[in-house]
Formats: sequence, C-alpha cells, structure tokens
Amino acid sequence: MKALSKRAQQVTGSMTLEIDAKAKAMKAAGVDVISFGAGEPDYPTPAHICAAAEEAMAKGQTKYTPAGGTAQLKEAVCRKLLRRNGLTYRPEQIVITNGAKQALHNAFCMLLDEGDQVILPAPCWVSYTELIRMSGGEPVLVPRRREDGFRLDVNAVERAVTEKTKAILINNPDNPCGQVLEEDTLRALAAIAEKYDLYLIADEIYEEFMYDGLQAPALPSISEDAYNRTILVNGLSKSYSMTGWRVGYAAMPPQVAKKMGAWQSHATGNVNSVAQAASIAALDGPQDTLHEMVAAFDQRRRDMAARIAQMPLIECLTPQGAFYIMADISAMLGKTAGGRVLTDSFAFTEALLEQAHVAVVPGDAFFAPGMIRFSYALPSEALQEGMDRLQRFIESLQ
Ligand code: PMP
Ligand code: GLU
Repeated sequence: MKALSKRAQQVTGSMTLEIDAKAKAMKAAGVDVISFGAGEPDYPTPAHICAAAEEAMAKGQTKYTPAGGTAQLKEAVCRKLLRRNGLTYRPEQIVITNGAKQALHNAFCMLLDEGDQVILPAPCWVSYTELIRMSGGEPVLVPRRREDGFRLDVNAVERAVTEKTKAILINNPDNPCGQVLEEDTLRALAAIAEKYDLYLIADEIYEEFMYDGLQAPALPSISEDAYNRTILVNGLSKSYSMTGWRVGYAAMPPQVAKKMGAWQSHATGNVNSVAQAASIAALDGPQDTLHEMVAAFDQRRRDMAARIAQMPLIECLTPQGAFYIMADISAMLGKTAGGRVLTDSFAFTEALLEQAHVAVVPGDAFFAPGMIRFSYALPSEALQEGMDRLQRFIESLQ
C-alpha cells in the first residue's frame, strides 16, 4: 500500500478533545471524574435557542441552504457585528462555518501557499499549529513568558517577520493563557501588518469573556487598513453554550469571502440548516444567559486562582479573559505519584486523571512545558471538589 500523504502523516489529533473524550468515557463508566479539560461551558443551550431549532424543523427548514450560510443568518451576524463591535459588514462579506474551527481552516486555505508563514503567540491553542500545517503553511511561534504575565512582545512579532510571512494570527482573549490584548497592542500589531503587507486573522471567540472591566476592540475596528486585511473569526460555541451545534462565522473583505464560500461549497456545503436557524435566535434574542454565565465564570476564575494560590508547588496568574487558567507545575516534575515519576506535563496529567480523577490538559499541548491548563467552565461545587482533590494529590507526591 502506498503511504498516506505527508500532511496526513504529520497531523496529530486534538489533545483537548482527546482528554475530553477520555474524561467523558470514564464518567460514562461510572468513575466520578471532575473535568477541567476541554473548554466547554457547563450551561445548557438557552431554551429559546432550542425552541427556534424545533420551529425550524417543524417548518421544514431541513434542506440544503446556500453553502456559505442562509441570508437570514448572515444578516443576523452583520447586525451583531454592528451592535457589539461597531463594525459594518455586508452579508456578502460573511461565511457561516462549521464552528470557528472551519472558519480558521478556511482562512488558512484562502491565504497560504506551501511554505508561507503565519506568526502567532505561544503558548497557543492546540489546533492553530495543526490547522496552519494542514493547509501547507508554517507556524512561527513568538514566545510569551509566565514571568512577564504572558504579555505579548510586539517587537518580537516584528522581528519574526520574514519574506515568507503571510499573516499574523491573534486570539483575543486567548486560550490557553486568558490574556487580553488591549487597544494599544492591537494598534501596534495592525501597524506591523500594514508595514509588511500581511493579513491579520483575529479569532475573537472569547470576546464576551473579559473580566475586571477590561475591554478590547475587535481587530478590524482598529483602522480602515486593519478592516481591509483582517479575517475575523467568531462562533456561537462559547457565548451561547452551543459547542455541539457547530456554528461559527468569518467576516472579511468581499473578494476573500467569495472565494471562501466557493471553497466551502465543495468541502462541506452548508452548516446544518436547523443549527443555522437556531443561531439567528441566539444572536438576535435575549442575552441574559450569556451575561449570567460571564458573571459566574468571573467568580469561578477568582475562586480557583485563590485556591491554587494556597497550594504548594503550583503557581498561576489570575487570567483576564476566556475561561482557562494556566498553572506552573514545574516544581512537581521529577517527583513521584503512586510510584510513577512525573517526568513532564503529560505524565502529570495522566497521573492526576488516573489517581485523583481530575482531568486537565498538559501544557505541552499548547507549547507550554511544565504547565497545565484548567478550564473553569464547570459548576462551582465541582470546581471546589476538584481543587480539594488536586491539593490532596499534590500533598501526596514524593
Ligand atoms: N478558537 C479557539 C481559541 C478555541 O478555543 C476554540 C475551541 N473550541 C475554537 C476556536 C473553536 O471553536 P468551535 O469550532 O467550537 O467554534
Ligand atoms: N477549544 C476548546 C479547548 O481548548 C474545546 C476543545 C477544542 O476544540 O479544542 O478546550
């Protein structure tokens, strides 16, 4: 048998989804696992969104839609972008995608030729580097350090620009560090993009999850030039607790959107028609569940950072956004848990799951060795119980 393609050979599965699947399988088998694994809000999808899906089915909206999304949903996205972000887009600038993941995949396929580089800050979300490679590109990581509060050094971004650079990717607020890039940093990044004629890809899926009064403008709203060179990526998974519905979207200059729609018409066709109808209800409908959820996550963020601060051998910063905490566990590496040596963040994560029934994601998956990532999108009681177990696990190490 001939070998699989080089791209297929080099791809690895999503570590966040793998850990989520493992934790869910253990739960299904009756093990009382507390999962700080995948970033999935614990809230149910709000009832009015589910009702809109039922209504769409009853009305027979169960057939193909235009590949890039229904006119009604694109219009709802345009209304949202104007209302929430002060951005004016026309429906022909929008593509509705299977989650923000497909929006990102499409964006890389639109922009990258073999060997083209995309600059992005690290630690970064697991899928970015794989998605860039899947479309023939090369990720170029600009490191951020915990000692500097994971602050992005804009000068380092500029120093990373080469003749092969095609785009800068930012995630604001970011997964996994929970940092918020404020307006001055966004301006500086937009200026670099203008100076070297680069595209900008802005993944703003966590835009609603900013705390302590922090605010960040949407990247395309920084300037007309930024607007013209940005592919803005967003989705409903997080804000509306709709991870399983698979609805995301991208907003961009019309000539890019036209090609992206054409690409998607062959690759997947439209996003599920019923999920698209439900998404209109999500974007246009009451936003109270979202606000309630953000307030709850804010509290959990502080509770969790406070608990970690009291524990030995583990340290973290209180994040400013998204719903993740990155914690430094390097002081525990080399110790043993139940006879197993904790050689790296993978070994730590495995031991914690098997021995304490607590799921977290190894930092190595995000290019953050010696760290682990917690999602705090879980109920407060479970969070506290998970912290108790973590503390006992740490105290038992030898
Ligand atoms: N971007 C980031 C930074 C994420 O953490 C996620 C995780 N789900 C996504 C995009 C993709 O989300 P979805 O495909 O569910 O919209
Ligand atoms: N993005 C979330 C996470 O980082 C969900 C899982 C995934 O799609 O990666 O946990």
